[in-house]
Amino acid sequence: MTASSDIHKRRGAAVARGVGSMISSYVDHASGGTLTDVDGREWIDMAAGIAVTNVGNASPKVVEAVRRQVERFTHTCFMIAPYEGYVAVCEQLNALTPGAFEKRSALFNSGAEAVENAVKIARHATGRQAVVVFDHAYHGRTNLTMALTAKAMPYKHGFGPFAGEIYRVPMSYPFRDGLSGPDAASLAIGMIEKQVGADQVAAVLIEPIQGEGGFIVPAPGFLPAIAAWARSAGALFVADEIQTGFCRTGEWFATTHESVEPDLVTTAKGIAGGLPLAAVTGRAAVMDAVHAGGLGGTYGGNPIACAAALASIETMRELDLCAAARRIESVMRPRLESLAAAHPVIGDVRGRGAMLAVEIVVPGSAEPGAVTAERAYGRGAPLGATPDAARTAAIQKAAHEAGLLLLTCGTYGNVIRFLPPLVMDDATLHRALDVLESAL
Ligand SMILES: *Cc1c(COP(=O)(O)O)cnc(C)c1O
Repeated sequence: MTASSDIHKRRGAAVARGVGSMISSYVDHASGGTLTDVDGREWIDMAAGIAVTNVGNASPKVVEAVRRQVERFTHTCFMIAPYEGYVAVCEQLNALTPGAFEKRSALFNSGAEAVENAVKIARHATGRQAVVVFDHAYHGRTNLTMALTAKAMPYKHGFGPFAGEIYRVPMSYPFRDGLSGPDAASLAIGMIEKQVGADQVAAVLIEPIQGEGGFIVPAPGFLPAIAAWARSAGALFVADEIQTGFCRTGEWFATTHESVEPDLVTTAKGIAGGLPLAAVTGRAAVMDAVHAGGLGGTYGGNPIACAAALASIETMRELDLCAAARRIESVMRPRLESLAAAHPVIGDVRGRGAMLAVEIVVPGSAEPGAVTAERAYGRGAPLGATPDAARTAAIQKAAHEAGLLLLTCGTYGNVIRFLPPLVMDDATLHRALDVLESAL
């Protein structure tokens, strides 16, 4: 019996079944690009704890900052006895998020909590209630964020009733809807105007590149058109940059690729090198609309998490991890494209920076002819090529057997996504791609 299988047996009797794990090996230690399990087996880390350890695991500056902070004090609650680290993280977020205007930030524990607070702030600031979200969206697992999330199984199944005043419209999905960015935006905007009412909308909430929904990069022009419409309607444009933020896509934030300046930005995941921290950052007038005491929480902006965030941000600057994400793309994309040429099961290669994916389909199943806006309205069955979730799972399983941690995603369960720590070296990236090639 291995050490992992021993722990796994104890887990079955102790941990609730609803909390899953992708693999059944247990971690002993981890670094920039690999994890080592308790049996001494090494794994190539193409997950980064779901886009969290952008600076790598146990990154030296983060370790040192946490050690120093934990010796000084561990918790006072910022709402009771404040400390500088919280203020310094807010200053960094205000400076780094898109838009040169004056901003304020508030800190929380998890991505879902940040999204919930962005909705609270948007409703309070606008005096309106409706929140517009998109097909394939993922915003978290709390009650409000389940309602904002699109996919029923596993995120919402059996967990209703869900929060109200949430409206879903079509997302630009170039591989499947065949629409230009502006055309996809008119489709969504037409629906908002007819089915919700422009003057009812508090916020339009969107991931600039969808994460769990399938690493969907909207067609160029989609995000700017949606943001411009929100502004003209007096609604707030809220970018959920929880997965795309902190250098992941080759910029500090993904909205920058399309020169969009959101009114509010939610961040979490990559912010603090693995410690739990999340934030809402936005226009000062919007953020400050909320009465004193209206936002907060016991642990939000915990001092150890703040110290880790400051050290992570410093590491991103020093090592220029935005450039590193672009380097990762320049290594991976050509190889993924040649794999796609050799294996027709790869229907699409997409993403930006170190947020790349391949979509697995049944070869030759794409329907001929352009997808019209009318067809794009029919949102039950997927448009275009038939998704192959079974083959996707088989590729993932083969990768795991060869020691490559590989994640899938997507509404149809047929997208393989790559989220390496941004400090992963070229040799390790190539090893990962070699494993993928044999798995295919
Ligand atoms: C992961 C994620 C969330 C939820 O974050 P948690 O920290 O898991 O609550 C919300 N939005 C996006 C885009 C995410 O990727």
